[in-house]
Amino acid sequence: MLHFAIAGCPLSTPKSGGTVEGLKRAHELGIEAMEIEWVQNVPSDPKRMEEIRRTAEDLKMSLTVHAPYYVNLNTPDPAKLAASKGRVLTSLAMSEIAGVRSVCVHAAFYLGLPPTQAYDNIRRSVADIVKQKNKLFPSVNLALETMGKPSQFGTLEEVLQISKEFDLYPCIDPAHLHARTNGAVNSAMEWNAMFDRYVEFLGKESLKRVHMHFSGIAYGPKGEKKHLPLQESDAKWEEFLGVLKKRKIEGVVVCESPLLEVDTLLLKNAYSSL
Ligand SMILES: [Zn+2]
Repeated sequence: MLHFAIAGCPLSTPKSGGTVEGLKRAHELGIEAMEIEWVQNVPSDPKRMEEIRRTAEDLKMSLTVHAPYYVNLNTPDPAKLAASKGRVLTSLAMSEIAGVRSVCVHAAFYLGLPPTQAYDNIRRSVADIVKQKNKLFPSVNLALETMGKPSQFGTLEEVLQISKEFDLYPCIDPAHLHARTNGAVNSAMEWNAMFDRYVEFLGKESLKRVHMHFSGIAYGPKGEKKHLPLQESDAKWEEFLGVLKKRKIEGVVVCESPLLEVDTLLLKNAYSSL
């Protein structure tokens, strides 16, 4: 199965609802999955996590999480590095309780280092995180995301390589790749090449459990500016859905459009009618 996830609570969730009410509202709208947005901070109450888990199980909704933006696994500052690893680990810990299957993370900025040197730093950080993860939160995946700016760690090959090394799977965001390349990666041919690379690194079976993002996006020579509604962007989203269908991709595609439920349902309905 391929699910289209909403990125956070629907805009039409009753006020002060929180994630549990958001899940109920999304389900009412016919949405089958949610990426919980812990991008500013990670909650710390295990009881709330259990409530999220029960609600999602009752409604048969599949969950992923977006970890905080304030992470840089390539920072030379020991205090900042420890805090970054801590945020990722807390996200994984809470996700495990909430029944979340994968947590996506913006791993790092290059900070002027050659990409290979940044890669080595990030690999050391990921090794520390994964050592704890495998012991304490074995069922949740750590998904390093492909990023939208050339100053950020997260080319397709970087996230595939590091995922392969640690037996993880990445979060592929084709909109970010489109922005990062200032307009490429927006055709069936390029998305097919992207999935071919994915299979080269992680094997054919890996396409049965993807964690992906998709949205419209504004960009320039420095890459991503901001996410856009699908129909206000240059994204060839119908063609993208065709590739997903033809290759029988399974897992979750999180719709990161600012229109939330409107565009999530647009993708879901267009995909079902193919
Ligand atoms: Zn992201």
